Amino acid sequence: MEKIVSLAKRRGFIFPGSDIYGGLANSWDYGPLGVELKNNLKARWWKKFVQSRADMVGLDAALIMNTKVWEASGHLSNFSDPLIECKNCKHRFRPDHVDGIIMNASITGEYGSGVGIGMDDGTRIFIKEETKCPDCGKKFDLADKPRQFNLMMKTFLGPVESAENTVYFRPETAQGIFVNFKNVADTTRKKLPFGIGQIGKAFRNEITPGNYIFRTREFEQMEIEYFIKPPETEAEWSEVFKAWRQSILDWAKDLGIKESEIHEYEVPSEDLAHYSKRTIDFEYDFPFGRKELYGLAYRTDFDLKNHNLDYTDDEGNKFIPHCIEPSLGVDRSILAAMCSAYAEETIGENDVRVVMKFPKWLAPVKVAVFPLLKNKPELVAKAKEVYNLLAEDLTVQFDDNGNVGKRYRRQDEIGTTYCVTIDFDTIEKDNTVTVRDRDTMEQIRVKIDELKEWLIKNLK
Ligand SMILES: [Zn+2]
Repeated sequence: MEKIVSLAKRRGFIFPGSDIYGGLANSWDYGPLGVELKNNLKARWWKKFVQSRADMVGLDAALIMNTKVWEASGHLSNFSDPLIECKNCKHRFRPDHVDGIIMNASITGEYGSGVGIGMDDGTRIFIKEETKCPDCGKKFDLADKPRQFNLMMKTFLGPVESAENTVYFRPETAQGIFVNFKNVADTTRKKLPFGIGQIGKAFRNEITPGNYIFRTREFEQMEIEYFIKPPETEAEWSEVFKAWRQSILDWAKDLGIKESEIHEYEVPSEDLAHYSKRTIDFEYDFPFGRKELYGLAYRTDFDLKNHNLDYTDDEGNKFIPHCIEPSLGVDRSILAAMCSAYAEETIGENDVRVVMKFPKWLAPVKVAVFPLLKNKPELVAKAKEVYNLLAEDLTVQFDDNGNVGKRYRRQDEIGTTYCVTIDFDTIEKDNTVTVRDRDTMEQIRVKIDELKEWLIKNLK
């Protein structure tokens, strides 16, 4: 993990947020290469799941929504985590992140000495006698019960900081889709089943953000709400659910994630959210452990019902559609793709190269163009000409620093798929260039006239 974080900072993928002022609580900024990577990822998802499907349309809803949305969706009353405060250092923790606290404790459970506490949401936790504060090490005062802490980010609309001007940043993109269901159905005249996809930021006031870009308070989601007729049999929704399950697995594979690195966790029925009939968490083996990467849930008619939204079919039947939700995180996708792509290869005695083996479509830079020598104006001029030619259609970098071997290493480290070198043969002999492949390191010569076409074909 440290190697990836350091490479990402050194090469301009990801910087600590507000870096020159000491950062800000696990916030991160995407640098020049990071933004290319992220744009490639989002464009691919949009193309695959929205534009290339006749049963999908897109949406881009506002980040701040009417508070009535959050009342109806249940976020205002339910979207909270219990928090326990240390009396000594005043730091607050999620009980499930503290050693010695048992979540969803059974009443008859034997956990040793300590105290069982009933939470506002009806669950029960047990705090062992010897439980210590993870920060200051002092024993918790068991008389103080954890309190619910709403995870929505609050702000005020307009100049007056009053209760009626209080609004929230959306904690998920999904509600933007639900509240627009009727607008979209009416204007596009889509017939069920159809889905609405959206990419956008969401905000959660997480108590303990962490693990780099894995859990941040500001993050980006790629969500789909796929609407179906109220199913009469289990098979009717199961079929759709299964198809989306496969789509998520295919997407992970497309991202460069090996099948063996993805683990499906079927959420047991007793742990399902009250609106969900079935949920699968797709977990990935991050360097810091196996954690949720994507989610797929059958949300029934819960959300549209909350917003009093219905649908009338061609026969005039009025009903509330049900919904299946594939939910993908942009930042988690980036992190998983970086972890899967990172490789150290021994290519000679005491010679190791670091290479980011991104899938070609994802690589932030597609081609690097080098003049063999930087002090030969005719080589530099020709290389600039080739750069300009390619930059019209591809993401290209020009590099004339150091020797060609060092330039290859620099490009390998950021995952550049091809390196093109202009040498004396180019200008004196046959107008060809050397094209070097990132993964095989093999080199071939290609005519400049055919170069762009060759690259575009091979980048597919
Ligand atoms: Zn403490």
